[in-house]
Amino acid sequence: MKKNDIIRLEIIDMTSDGSGVGKTDSMVVFVPDTAIGDVCDVRILKVKKNLCFGKIEKIVTKSEHRIEPLCPVSNRCGGCVYRHLSYTAEKQIKFKKVYDALTRIGKVDGEKVVDIIGADERVDRYRNKAQIPVSLNKNGEVEMGFYSRHSHRIASCDDCLLSPPIFTQISQTFKEFVTKHPYLIYDEEKHSGKIRHLYLRVGEKTGEVMVCVVVNGESFPHQDELFNSIIEKYSQVKSIVINVNKEKTNVILGYKNIVVYGKESIEDVLCGLKFELSPLAFYQVNRIQAQKLYEKAKEYACLTGSEVLMDLYCGTGTIGLTMAKECKELIGVEIIDEAIENAKINAENNGITNARFICADATKAGLQLEKEGIKPDVVIVDPPRKGLTEELIHTITQMEPSRVVYVSCDPATLARDLKLFEELKYIVKEITPVDLFPRTAHCESVCLLLKGE
Ligand code: SAH
Repeated sequence: MKKNDIIRLEIIDMTSDGSGVGKTDSMVVFVPDTAIGDVCDVRILKVKKNLCFGKIEKIVTKSEHRIEPLCPVSNRCGGCVYRHLSYTAEKQIKFKKVYDALTRIGKVDGEKVVDIIGADERVDRYRNKAQIPVSLNKNGEVEMGFYSRHSHRIASCDDCLLSPPIFTQISQTFKEFVTKHPYLIYDEEKHSGKIRHLYLRVGEKTGEVMVCVVVNGESFPHQDELFNSIIEKYSQVKSIVINVNKEKTNVILGYKNIVVYGKESIEDVLCGLKFELSPLAFYQVNRIQAQKLYEKAKEYACLTGSEVLMDLYCGTGTIGLTMAKECKELIGVEIIDEAIENAKINAENNGITNARFICADATKAGLQLEKEGIKPDVVIVDPPRKGLTEELIHTITQMEPSRVVYVSCDPATLARDLKLFEELKYIVKEITPVDLFPRTAHCESVCLLLKGE
């Protein structure tokens, strides 16, 4: 097989990142935007030893799972990978992604992986946050959208189906402004120009919107023209902020925020509690699904009012705070300073007085708390994709909580970590996949571990 060959292929499986998989006698072939059951003519793009990558040239027989993707850039944009599939098929793929990782890597009994909690009532327009890059293309046209797959080029899109309509409207006003003043747009290569990203947030329950412009500097020419037109048109906008990012970097946000209109942060309501969303604070992007995830975590925590609850990787405290009224004491640990400040304010705003928050690396804080003789009854962990350190797993098990609730955004590292927990006499009781990110390849899960004898 060589580049540009065209082969006929039946798609028989999906990878965990949403690409279709077919097989020839000697090769495994990966083809994005396909569905199990498709028969396609595939153009080979890249050949390695036993595998190659291709793209659809023509669909010969359509899979029964296919639907018409409603987004014009769905086959280029790096955001969604399942736009061409029914949501039922997507849920099956995500369940299998979690099931396969846990049974293969974690050696977990497959029976323990229960039904996925889907987002059946809403698979589109669920995001409460968008970070939209802006650039000028070779023809001098303004491009705004999402980065293309595996690249730093923008797939231009005026109406992202994952974003609420108010984001589309504000983006349009913003685009009109930068089209009128194109020299303001930041140039990545030359590190010149001012405006890098438009960053929008909405408190879904309160309706409050934050507009944040990420700027290579502390201000930009004609900014009042933009901000006044936003304020005039959109009464929901309660906060406008300039985020200063003067670094030559791919990291979107800088650390400094300058409030140019309204409040420093907006508010949202999650599981009945009020949360402050400042520009840098982490907050789950899909509120309805996050509530379902937290409810499941709460069910697994099985609190009665007398427990010491530890919430490691707590962000702005959301998971622990939604359970604080059902336990005796809450201890949250998080590495980002601002998030801890937010967590403290969130506790206060909700009248929660039995919580304390520690700003530290979770592994170090775990060791310290263990040394102090703290004996949590329930430990919740919600680490980033890389999962937990072995040291932290040892520390947690040495503190002997009766329950550990593990919230994970990566089934592979969850599976790896569960294996060590089981070696240390914690028993995996149940895992529930939760779809927090419909149409994308990501899938969250929550797992209950019980202390063994
Ligand atoms: N539980 C929160 C946040 C989860 S995201 C929620 O549901 O909203 C994971 C969090 O872990 C982030 O806030 C990140 O800042 C934090 N984090 C990353 N590395 C960490 C570390 N080594 N120690 C403690 N917290 C860390």
